[in-house]
Amino acid sequence: MAYMEPAPLKKENPFESMMSRFNVAADLLGLDEDTYNVLKTPTRQIIVALPVTMDNGRIHVFEGYRVIHSTILGPSKGGIRYDLDVNIDEVKALAAWMTWKCAVVDLPYGGAKGGIICDPKTMSRGELERLTRAYTLSLNDVFGQDKDIPAPDMGTGPQEMAWLMDEYSKSQGMTVNAVVTGKPLVLGGSLGRVEATGRGVMISAFGAMEKLKMIPSKTSAAVQGFGNVGSNAARLLYERGIHVKAISDISGAYWNDKGLDIPAMLEYAAKNNRSLEGFPGAEKISNEELITAKVDLLVPAAKEDVITSENAGKIQARLIVEGANGPTSSKADAIINDKGIMVVPDILANAGGVTVSYFEWVQNRLGYKWTLDRVNRRSDRIMKEAFDRVFAAATQHKVAMRIGAYVVAIDKVAQTYKFRGGF
Ligand code: GLU
Repeated sequence: MAYMEPAPLKKENPFESMMSRFNVAADLLGLDEDTYNVLKTPTRQIIVALPVTMDNGRIHVFEGYRVIHSTILGPSKGGIRYDLDVNIDEVKALAAWMTWKCAVVDLPYGGAKGGIICDPKTMSRGELERLTRAYTLSLNDVFGQDKDIPAPDMGTGPQEMAWLMDEYSKSQGMTVNAVVTGKPLVLGGSLGRVEATGRGVMISAFGAMEKLKMIPSKTSAAVQGFGNVGSNAARLLYERGIHVKAISDISGAYWNDKGLDIPAMLEYAAKNNRSLEGFPGAEKISNEELITAKVDLLVPAAKEDVITSENAGKIQARLIVEGANGPTSSKADAIINDKGIMVVPDILANAGGVTVSYFEWVQNRLGYKWTLDRVNRRSDRIMKEAFDRVFAAATQHKVAMRIGAYVVAIDKVAQTYKFRGGF
């Protein structure tokens, strides 16, 4: 069988990593113990077994998760990840990050996350469809347009969301397109959703560059990851005059001191099974070299735990904008702060995706379609306002932007909880 057991847990447990930042912010806010306990504990943690008939006729039982961290601000929101490294601690951390992320950008949502241990790259379209439908069916009572609204994450995209919407709709006896976001355009998806996370990363980078007085034409960047977030962030930074000198994907990392030709890379990857392997306009470097490369701006846009206490000391960038969720381990935070590097944290920098998911949900519920211009204008404004709120909180408490973001988020959720009480 092509299916492996999940990889062992990484060195730093992502949930603990999230909690250590949460604790600092909770202390700064003087959060009382009862509220602290409510906010830190995930509301629901669901593990499902998903038997799927594979193309070879055998049945493989996949393990799937959905963690609802909080519904204090509204229905829970968060993507579904298909990856071999998925595990309950990761999903718990990602669900909590969704709670804080939605609060930072002021969306009326709580936080959730889902995942299935699988390797989507080795699965056929039919296998992926059966897996997605099995997952949807087993979480039928959890999902709902006013309850829990999934979206894409690593390893999933519009097609999986279309299957999910269809399977859920069948069970309800009617089309319910607002049950999931990140759908294809023809099925009620929103213009601008695919590039929304990358766009938010670009807006956040420009917000920070302004504070640091960095001029785009004199700024170089390295982007780790060339999936939906990394590729769109790289393209948008490139289009605005930044010299993107390094990019990586699963095939390795690519460097060009004069700046990479991003449109050529996008075209190359599109023709080459989404891989940059063999791209001619660059020299190959290691992933580690990319993280510590001599650039001004570093955009980790792949997975958790890539900036660690081992490599943080060697980072040369002045600014880190986190396109991925949890790319920096909590142990690396102190090293980065000591070096005076500014970090626009994940729960702010990559919130453009869920912001346009929210617009998609609003459009679905109104039965209306917004223009791309309206989507971009509104999401850019939300991202800028959130950046300013976080910057102000960080300045007021004399802490890094990451803790500033947690302060903004926890304060909002805690205040809401005090008004409404338990749900
Ligand atoms: N998976 C994305 C994230 O981590 C998007 C979630 C959503 O749109 O609900 O923010």
